Amino acid sequence: MTDNEKLAELLYPDVRLTIDDLEKKYPKRNLDEKAEVCRFAPSPTGRMHMGNLFASFVPERFAHQSNGVFILRIEDTDDKRAIDDGINLIMQDLKEYNYKVDEGPNSGGEYGPYIQSQRKEIYHTVAKYLVSIGRAYPCFCSEDDLTHMREHQEHKKERIGYYGRYAKCRNLTYVEVKAHIDNGDKWVLRLKSMGDFNKKIVFKDLIKGTIELPENDIDQVLVKSDGIPPYAFAHVCDDHFMRVTIVTRDDSYISSVPYHLELWDACRFEKPKFAHLLPLNKKDGEVVRKLSKRKDPEAAVAFYHEKGIPTEAVKLYFATLLNSNFDGWFLQNQDKDYNDFTFSFNKMSTSGGSLFDIEKLLNISKNYLSRLKAEEVFANLDNWSKEFDNEFNQLIKQYRDYTISVLNIEREQKKPRKDFACYSEIKKNIWYMYDELFSDVDFDFSFLKHEEDARKIVSTYLSDFFDINDDKETWFNKIKELTEKMGYNTNMKEYKENPDEFRGSIADISNVIRVSLTTKLTTPDLFEIIKLLGNERVCERFKRICG
Ligand code: GLU
Repeated sequence: MTDNEKLAELLYPDVRLTIDDLEKKYPKRNLDEKAEVCRFAPSPTGRMHMGNLFASFVPERFAHQSNGVFILRIEDTDDKRAIDDGINLIMQDLKEYNYKVDEGPNSGGEYGPYIQSQRKEIYHTVAKYLVSIGRAYPCFCSEDDLTHMREHQEHKKERIGYYGRYAKCRNLTYVEVKAHIDNGDKWVLRLKSMGDFNKKIVFKDLIKGTIELPENDIDQVLVKSDGIPPYAFAHVCDDHFMRVTIVTRDDSYISSVPYHLELWDACRFEKPKFAHLLPLNKKDGEVVRKLSKRKDPEAAVAFYHEKGIPTEAVKLYFATLLNSNFDGWFLQNQDKDYNDFTFSFNKMSTSGGSLFDIEKLLNISKNYLSRLKAEEVFANLDNWSKEFDNEFNQLIKQYRDYTISVLNIEREQKKPRKDFACYSEIKKNIWYMYDELFSDVDFDFSFLKHEEDARKIVSTYLSDFFDINDDKETWFNKIKELTEKMGYNTNMKEYKENPDEFRGSIADISNVIRVSLTTKLTTPDLFEIIKLLGNERVCERFKRICG
């Protein structure tokens, strides 16, 4: 046994697995050459926000579009950040967004456990291996020692960190280490770095391209005194033994890549590809800043749930953020799904970040909703209102088929109406179709030059023209006749040229009818509204106006 092997045994006497055992237990995946294994690795800190929802969309897409594997891994080694129920909240959000997690805490998989706090044995096995090959050592420096070192470095204007001559425990002999251990001294495990800060390391990021940074020469902590590894060492072990092929994560990690690469090399693991994602930004007046959980309500996933913004629309928006050429493709392929598009890293913006624009998202949502079948809109509206507007939920369920017909007005046509961007906006568009909501309403005819005409227009229409059985053409011709009878102008062009010469126009006449039936000046097709309301209710509503 070498001294290093003896040291490994001394530090990790209970670890019986070897690195070879792990290699066998988590073998290379039997996948297509092009298939990517990607992971979303959040810390369980609560409900998701748009930043990490987008960060999960990216690996999900690259994994699934290549027939690969999408993993959910929970990074809960940092206790201070974890909240009770944090894991469930993340899984709930991913489920709501209909992400298919192939492997994860609740999804099974041969490469688990998928929660870091349950993977201690793996980390310790790799740690023991690193000690045995001389690439890791125990450090017994106290907090005081380290503070003292830092102050000294600051004073001397030197780089901060445990490196070079500051790495006091790096050369302790086996005998010295044994004395500390026998004494019960606390220790952390550090990497024995071979890097040279004056040299550069060059690596390729799938999004940002070639990056050059100084090599790492700091003997970073691999395992803390409580036996738990910080992020860097844990993710290297996990990504290797989960056989991840692309590491997608926030670009705040980019400066640590030299250290991570050194770890991969020290462990003799094959390196994955990296894709560092730019943050989602927001234009706030003249400034562009990071979308903020604290300042921006639209940053919270809960915001979309409460407003009833369809998750599919959010994902379509993500697709436009992910690849600049998606918009154009989707315009040509309206009937397709974003899943049919092949995303690529080189079509991502490489600097600054992506501008998160809620108005654009809502616009996409309007389009998306306008193309759904009325039955689908109904089902989703039912779900949404069950949670957020029980009174409306009762109504739409009581008049199910009727509601579907209302939602279907001007829907199945080449250019469907785009009245609402989310389920919470539907009621304000269709409430007047329900007598229950139409009982205590005000009518405003002040758009007429002669407001007093309203009653007369309605009563004449009701007595001389209105017939529920008319087809659309007859109906419209009768509106024209009514217009003439009232001394209003049927020719909009002529009217617009000389409005002062006429009492009003045919548009005013239709609007009197529209307002009488709905209180609103803009509605979907009036003829269809009349048909759906039916004779009795139309007459009843007219009589409210003309008595
Ligand atoms: N757990 C890290 C975080 O929440 C993710 C880092 C990674 O994806 O590797 O920031």
